[in-house]
Amino acid sequence: MDAYALSDATVVTPRKIRSSATLLVEGGRVAGFGLSAPRSAAVGPASFVYPALINAHDHLRGNYLPRVGPPPGTFYPNWSPWDADLKASPAYAERAALDVATMYRLGAYKNLFSGVATVMDHFPHEINGPYLPGLPIRVLAEYCLAHECSSFDLKWGDGIEAEHARAVERRWPFVTHLEEGFDAESQDGIGVLERAGALDERALLVHCLGFSEEDIRKVRRAGASVAWCPASNLLMFNLTCKIRKLLRAGVNVALGTDSTHTGSANLLAEMKYARSLYRGLYGEELPAKTVFDMVTANAAKALGLEGRTGVLEPGAMADIAVFRARAEDAYESLCLAESGDLELLVVGGEPVYGLEARYGRLFELGSGYERLAVGGRRMLVKGDPAALYRGVRTAVGFAKELDYLPFEV
Ligand SMILES: [Zn+2]
Repeated sequence: MDAYALSDATVVTPRKIRSSATLLVEGGRVAGFGLSAPRSAAVGPASFVYPALINAHDHLRGNYLPRVGPPPGTFYPNWSPWDADLKASPAYAERAALDVATMYRLGAYKNLFSGVATVMDHFPHEINGPYLPGLPIRVLAEYCLAHECSSFDLKWGDGIEAEHARAVERRWPFVTHLEEGFDAESQDGIGVLERAGALDERALLVHCLGFSEEDIRKVRRAGASVAWCPASNLLMFNLTCKIRKLLRAGVNVALGTDSTHTGSANLLAEMKYARSLYRGLYGEELPAKTVFDMVTANAAKALGLEGRTGVLEPGAMADIAVFRARAEDAYESLCLAESGDLELLVVGGEPVYGLEARYGRLFELGSGYERLAVGGRRMLVKGDPAALYRGVRTAVGFAKELDYLPFEV
C-alpha cells in the first residue's frame, strides 16, 4: 500500500502527546512525524489519534447475547458451572443456528467497531486456526496456551509444560486462565505454574481472582502479566482480582472483555466499567492514563508485541484509532468514547473503518469496503458486516439485536 499521512493531528502515544502533527504511514508502519505524503487526510482539532486498542482477552466464537450468569443471589465457585449454565441457556440454543465462521466474524466486528486492531482469542490453534484468515482485524496467531490450571481444565494444547516450553523457544506469550474460582484447586494456580516452571515473563494470566498478596509478589518478581476482565468477574463471581494491589505492586495489567456472554459489549464499555468498579471498590479514581496503558502498551507487552503495536512511534506497526474528542484531556476522552465516536481504524497500515467524508481518500488505496450509517454518519468498513448481521437475523428467525454492532441495518 502507498504511503499516506494523517495531518493536523493530535497524536497520543503512551510516551507523549504531539499536537499539530503529521503522522506518516508507509509500508504498513509508522514512518515518522512531520513528513508529508502525496496522499493525506486532515484529522482536525476535534479528534484524537491514538494507537489502536488491544483486547488482551476475548473468546471470539462466543460473542453472542444476552449474558448468562448464576441464578439471582448466587455466585459460581469456579468457571465450570457457568459453562454448564451457558450450554443449557436459551441464548446458547439460539446461537447454535450460527456456524463457527459467523461467530468469528461477529467477534472480529465487535472489536473493530470499538477501535481494537489486535485481539488475543482464548482458543487453541486447533480450534481457531481455520477461522482467523480473512478477518478484518489482527487476531494473534503467535501464542501458546493452556485453558486453565486445574483438573477440570479443557486439556487444550499439549499441556502447561510443553506449551510454556514452546512459548519460550518461539518468544511467544504463554496464556492461561488462572485462579478463576474459589475451590482449593483454583486457588493454587500460582503453585501449579511454579511447579511446571511456567511462571515467568512469557506468562499472561487471565482473571487471577484468588491471588494472595504473596501470589502478587511472585507474579511481579516473575515479570508475568495479568489480563483483567472486571465485568465478567463481577457477573460470575461478584468480585474481581485485587486490582489495586496488583497495580501498586507494579504488575503489568492489560484489560480484556472476555466474551459478551459474561463481559461488556466491547472494550470501550469494559474501560468504563473498570473505572466505575474501581471507584466503587476503593473510593478513588482509576486514572484514565492507567486505563489507556492497559489497552495499549501494557497489552502489547503482555502479548509479546512491545514496541510493535500499542504505540505510535517510528517503526511500529501502523495500528491507529482516531476518536472524536469528548474531553479536553486525551486519556479522559478515550475513556468516555463510544463506538459512534470512532472515526478511523487502521490495522497494519490498512484502513479498515473510517468516516468517508474525512478519510475516503485513504480507502482508495484498498478494496473490499462497504458503506454503513453509524449515528447518522457515513462510514466505510472492510468486509460486509451488514450482510453478516442480516444473515444472523435470518438464521435465528427474528431481528436479533447485537449491541456491539452500531450501524443501522
Ligand atoms: Zn476467558
